[in-house]
Amino acid sequence: MTFTALELLKLRLLADGVRLGEDAAAAWHERFEGPLTLAEYATTSGISVALPGELYVNAPLSAGEALPQLRYDEGFVIVADGEVVPVEVVPVPSFHTRTQTDGYDGTVQPYTNYGVTHTDRCRVSPIGGCAWKCKFCDLPYEWGYRKKHPENLLNVILAAQDDPQAPARHVLVSGGTPRAPVPARPGRPAQDDEAWIDDVFAYLAEHSPLPVDVMLPPRRDLAHAEKLRRMGINMLSVNLEVSDPERTKVLAPAKAKVGREHTLNYIERAVEAFDVGFVQSLVVFGAAIEPLESTLRGVRDLAQRGCIPVLSPFRPHHLTPLADAPPASFEEIVEVLARSIEICEQAGTGVLPGPRCVACHHNTATLPDGSEFYAGAQDDLTARPCPVS
Ligand code: SF4
Repeated sequence: MTFTALELLKLRLLADGVRLGEDAAAAWHERFEGPLTLAEYATTSGISVALPGELYVNAPLSAGEALPQLRYDEGFVIVADGEVVPVEVVPVPSFHTRTQTDGYDGTVQPYTNYGVTHTDRCRVSPIGGCAWKCKFCDLPYEWGYRKKHPENLLNVILAAQDDPQAPARHVLVSGGTPRAPVPARPGRPAQDDEAWIDDVFAYLAEHSPLPVDVMLPPRRDLAHAEKLRRMGINMLSVNLEVSDPERTKVLAPAKAKVGREHTLNYIERAVEAFDVGFVQSLVVFGAAIEPLESTLRGVRDLAQRGCIPVLSPFRPHHLTPLADAPPASFEEIVEVLARSIEICEQAGTGVLPGPRCVACHHNTATLPDGSEFYAGAQDDLTARPCPVS
């Protein structure tokens, strides 16, 4: 499998980042009157640009002299190894300056505490922080656990749809994992944040003008995905993240308790409920996570079940225990992507490395190939009719 020079440039920007030229910084601020990045998750803290051929990439800002540079010369360009490549830049949404009153505690909070748009996808997070503590993820180390009012989330979606700088076309409901249900005890009522978040999913699916995708860990009940589909959720993301069970115990202990087999069984049922092409699973890769062969075993297990593997190169976040671990290298990204494409083709279930939405490729090792798998996603983003009334 060989990649074109532009495809390799995307993968290089994803791995090593981009140096910011002063002319580009000045042009960006003048045109968009805001920051270049909201410096959020490790995987989305860079700047998003699109190379020719709809090669979207989120490139971390970096200072290395040998790195490709973002410049401005009658338009934004990437200068790399003497070549000048025109790019479209994707600004942060205008709504990041807005505030609203929290529906639960009455405090005034920025819209960005509830959701953010990356390229054309608005991601809202019903839970701040997380009940789990994966060592590669900043959420539990950066934010305390709190539930957010569904109307606050809907306000962000409405603002994101009409945003003049970065209008959203679809919604991803993700963020932290809810706490496991706690039965009632004398003097203490039962608590069920899983049931609460399911109600939030249903509320957003009903009221959002944009199609709603959901990302969540597998539930104990294997029929749960069918319930989500009946609500009108458009696509589902159930992340394997780490493939090797022993490495999962180290890096994502709560996920290890759920178990690899149960996760794959939940995914299999989800594909039955949502159809091939509408269920995906993130796999975080890089030497700091697990050996590449183990990652590729996970990719194979997903592809054989008709689940789209989403290849997420590991980038360390400074607040996590993996702060000093090496990011996935350019060589690792190229190898994992090339071999994953082959694995998908061998599986023969019709999936390729995802996500299918081309603009959402920005922080993943994915390349559009002009096939219906990616092109068709544009139609599939418009909500499909619910199969069960
Ligand atoms: S479950 Fe998801 S949000 Fe929670 S710590 Fe793990 S990766 Fe982060």
